Amino acid sequence: MVSRLFVLPCLVGLLACGGGTSEDPPPTGPITYTVAHYDYAFDMQSRAAAVALTVNVDVAGDCMAIPMRAENLSDVRMDGEPIVAGGLDAGVLTACGAGWEAGTQLELTAAMVIPDATWQDSQVGYSVWVDAEDNPFTYLVSWVGGCDRFGPCDNAADQFATYRFTVAHPDDTLVTCPGTITPTPTETVCEFNFAGGPTYSTFGVAMSPSWSTAQVGTWGDSVAVTLYDSPSTGATDRFDEPTHKQFFEWLETLLGPYPYGDELRVIIAPTFWGGFEHPGNIVLADSFTAGQQRNTFHHELVHMWAGNKTTLADTYDFVWKEAIANYLPFVFMHENISASTAISTARSWRSRAQGSDYHLVPGEQPPLIDYYGDVYSPGPLIMFRQLAALFDRDTVLTAIQDFLSDTRAASVEDLKAALETATGADLTNYFNAWIYGSGVPVRPSFDVTITDVGGGDVELIVDEVDNGTGLHGCAFTVRLTGDGGEDFDVWVDRGVDGLATTTQVVTPGFAVTGHLFDPDVQCAGLERQTASASRPLRSNPFLAPVRPTPW
Ligand SMILES: [Zn+2]
Repeated sequence: MVSRLFVLPCLVGLLACGGGTSEDPPPTGPITYTVAHYDYAFDMQSRAAAVALTVNVDVAGDCMAIPMRAENLSDVRMDGEPIVAGGLDAGVLTACGAGWEAGTQLELTAAMVIPDATWQDSQVGYSVWVDAEDNPFTYLVSWVGGCDRFGPCDNAADQFATYRFTVAHPDDTLVTCPGTITPTPTETVCEFNFAGGPTYSTFGVAMSPSWSTAQVGTWGDSVAVTLYDSPSTGATDRFDEPTHKQFFEWLETLLGPYPYGDELRVIIAPTFWGGFEHPGNIVLADSFTAGQQRNTFHHELVHMWAGNKTTLADTYDFVWKEAIANYLPFVFMHENISASTAISTARSWRSRAQGSDYHLVPGEQPPLIDYYGDVYSPGPLIMFRQLAALFDRDTVLTAIQDFLSDTRAASVEDLKAALETATGADLTNYFNAWIYGSGVPVRPSFDVTITDVGGGDVELIVDEVDNGTGLHGCAFTVRLTGDGGEDFDVWVDRGVDGLATTTQVVTPGFAVTGHLFDPDVQCAGLERQTASASRPLRSNPFLAPVRPTPW
């Protein structure tokens, strides 16, 4: 897109001319706008940068304010003219110029330097880490709310744009970024013109002298998959192409065509997180086991639809993209690879769900970096696996399919609406009990009482412990067991709104001497761990190791 102001000249004597005449003074006041395109040029080593923004004016005015946290800002211009007023204050650039009518475009240009800094010890920002070959891995990543680290940028979570990255770099290095790549020895251009390019993920540029590229397959109709890897990581050998192709095509069947044309690049590098979902450019950590690499790759692949094509309405909608990116690989694993491995994953979700510091949508709105790690395990369990137990899996998948059907920004409330449509249920109480709230979440706990009532019958009473946080809906199995290895499953359905108590009388056909609580991990609650001679507690013996950095 050519980024210039296009206003047809008003001719004296014409009545209708944009609502004004040539004698009207230009508009004044704050401009409300949408950034349609970022033309961003920078030097990967010196960090010197320049940007031209194509800005669609939605509400007329003469001043626009835009987040900007880069250094050494200079040469700020609007439509090529130096700004007449404004400046940088507290991370916001105000730029004032001639005045623009609604419906017109303006071009904002500026020069700056990318700070040599990251958010805490993450790679959000600009970083140079040493890779497996002892070479520098240079990486720009914005994350949610972070694109203004690199220059003037609308960092709201719900913004899409198109991009052109012009990257200067040393000879003999490879650079990758979203879009179509045109390399020369010292400059690489990435042009991204797809509809679904959120700023949180599309601002992602990586460089390494260690990489070579390898074509690893063609997936779906025509998506060429290329690995960027270096000799010492072993990641290419671990790349399970047949399974990944199967998962990719399973996703296309569920969610529609891959949103980013006919290229998918997989980039192996030393990373803070297990992976990152730049559109069409999935970054994976270089030090995984085969299982970690598979799970993380599948997680990031889901983000092409869940996070990128459909993006976040707000920072505190973060949970839905991670919950879907964990749940769909779980379903694929459960149905196609190993049900027991999938259940082990769900068990680790439940274990970690007990230690969250924040609700899935935290009312206190902490900095993202403080709370994001609390959504990856309880998110898929509460939003999807529990509801699949209360209804069924196909209904939940239909809701996800519907929720991700458009290129748009979507909220947790939108996901709730899709789940309500698919299930036919009112999920207001469910979301209030499990998802929304402030402070440390208290997951439910249950007391299980098993009584021999004679005639071979057993009474099973399950009470939700009153933790002062209301009732929690879910459904799960209590498996009655006998000393001879017998077992008998009782399905305990608390409904979506929860029940204080359920009483069921069953005839197991053996002397019940113990039980397992929710062995298939369909509820994020636990049995209350109290000592009881008549009620041996053998549930939840498994605590999975916790990975230091969630993906
Ligand atoms: Zn993720």
